[in-house]
Amino acid sequence: MAVDLRSDTISMPDQAMLESILGAKLGDDGRADSRGRGEDETANQLEDMAARLLGKEEGVLFPSGTMGNTAAILSFCQPGGRVLVDEMQHIYLSEKTVFDPSLGQLIPVTYRLDEDFLPDPEDMRRILKQEKISLICVENTHNFSGGTCIPQKRLSQIRALADEYRIPVHMDGARIFNAAAALGVSAKSLASQADTVMFCLSKGLGAPIGSLVCGTHEACGKIRKKRKLLGGAMRQAGVIAAPGIYALEHNRERLMEDHENTAFAAGRLLGLKHTKIWGNTSTNMIVLDVSGLGLSPEDYCKEAAARGLLIKPILQGKVRLVFYKDISREDTQKAVDIIHQMDEELAGKMTP
Ligand SMILES: *Cc1c(COP(=O)(O)O)cnc(C)c1O
Repeated sequence: MAVDLRSDTISMPDQAMLESILGAKLGDDGRADSRGRGEDETANQLEDMAARLLGKEEGVLFPSGTMGNTAAILSFCQPGGRVLVDEMQHIYLSEKTVFDPSLGQLIPVTYRLDEDFLPDPEDMRRILKQEKISLICVENTHNFSGGTCIPQKRLSQIRALADEYRIPVHMDGARIFNAAAALGVSAKSLASQADTVMFCLSKGLGAPIGSLVCGTHEACGKIRKKRKLLGGAMRQAGVIAAPGIYALEHNRERLMEDHENTAFAAGRLLGLKHTKIWGNTSTNMIVLDVSGLGLSPEDYCKEAAARGLLIKPILQGKVRLVFYKDISREDTQKAVDIIHQMDEELAGKMTP
């Protein structure tokens, strides 16, 4: 069977996770009381758990991370408002919803990432001095640079800057638990530097569906209103929330195994003649620059698939490998072997 490293979204719910749905107490989550809480006890339990883990007052469950980011960002901005995002940010390059002229109608203003792929506070300051900005967005871990963790110190510099200019901070923490595991800190301490934080249950945590946005009670009230507008208020949402609770209880600790497989593979891919590691490898991803082989990322991925390794092109000329709970050390070794073979056999043989 092929080793599938296309994304950690491919991780499959296991039997015990699926069984958690059968015993879940369900209700109509779209039917809210005066405090904005719905009637699905399991969804409420997950929202409380998420808020507790991130040290926030409240959590709001979403069907996707894109919708969570969108609702959070829209809750802070008016149409035409300017939002600071980094030049390779998922919200900006992949989701685009808040910047779509027919939807969010916000204007992206990009800040630089430094040589370590971390947000450059000096560049942020330069922009803040020049224009009126409604919101600062950071991404932790940072997907397109290979899962870079923004450490506490950099986050607090950004927080200080945001406070100086009285601007809120939203963290796209789709993989915040990967960042916490890799940095050896709590997700709570990372989240403390942002007003609102989105994280995904459906990536490395292995749940089938779902993301949460956490923040103050006031912020979450506004975010729930945006969620309703976006069609994200669900009914028996406990069907999603139960595996989400299971994921937070059972799959956070084990994220380190994915990081160990990533480090194992990265160590064995150093020193290849034509295939170069690009970006960061500190969490569960490796980005490869395959341009030295003289073939396009698409052709590289096709060739890899023919040899039993499924991977995907990302950004300019790169391909990405993502490790998650269904990928064993044996699978990791197999992926490494295929990349080695391709490095030896393909150089100069393909027409560019
Ligand atoms: C996956 C991802 C999202 C959004 O997730 P969906 O659930 O696929 O909409 C947001 N940000 C980052 C960095 C992601 O990797």
